[in-house]
Amino acid sequence: MNIVLLGAPGAGKGTQAQKLVEEYGIAHISTGDLLRAAVAADSKLGRQAKSFMDEGKLVPDKLVIDLVKERLDADDAQKGFILDGFPRNTAQAVTLDSELAELDRELDAALLVDVKPEVIIARLSSRRTCRSCGYTGTTADAVCPQCGGEMYQRDDDCAATIKNRLDVYESQTAPLVEYYRGHGILKEVDGDRPVDAVYADVKALLSL
Ligand code: AMP
Repeated sequence: MNIVLLGAPGAGKGTQAQKLVEEYGIAHISTGDLLRAAVAADSKLGRQAKSFMDEGKLVPDKLVIDLVKERLDADDAQKGFILDGFPRNTAQAVTLDSELAELDRELDAALLVDVKPEVIIARLSSRRTCRSCGYTGTTADAVCPQCGGEMYQRDDDCAATIKNRLDVYESQTAPLVEYYRGHGILKEVDGDRPVDAVYADVKALLSL
């Protein structure tokens, strides 16, 4: 099962991906998580990516594509993968297609988690993330319900950056919905509902 998750920041892609990974044991490849880890480690990639991320802009394609290629090669991705936050523009989507063709693999589905912009803004403003395990919660979680770790607000979940990220999504990422519809693999789920209701539909759409 090879899946691409589409949807605005805060639509719930990461949450749905975590559930699929837990149940089916496929690899969760989140470019946002990989980039945040690189920033935290102060690696060369992290230093190159940080200013783009802080402003809510896309990190240059080359940096992200290299990261994804490396992850697709890893052992845990051979059984299947969920790409979360990649591709973010048409150039990345085209590169992914040719990379997968070279590996003799293909996408089974592009799943759009659809949520209205006003709901997204409210969600992102109250979103809190676990510093240890990456769990996504809200301001109601004093500590991480999964591992007891410290919950923090991502730098790019502040009001000014949220607007930039939504603008970038609309102009660069939203066109991928038509790209994958054209490839006949687009599936859409209404993400403005409780997590488990969305997940039930996700599994049905993916015939799981
Ligand atoms: P996310 O956690 O997916 O919301 O990503 C956080 C930030 O990482 C984004 O706002 C971008 O700056 C960067 N990023 C994540 N994925 C990509 C990608 N596929 N292409 C370029 N930048 C990305």
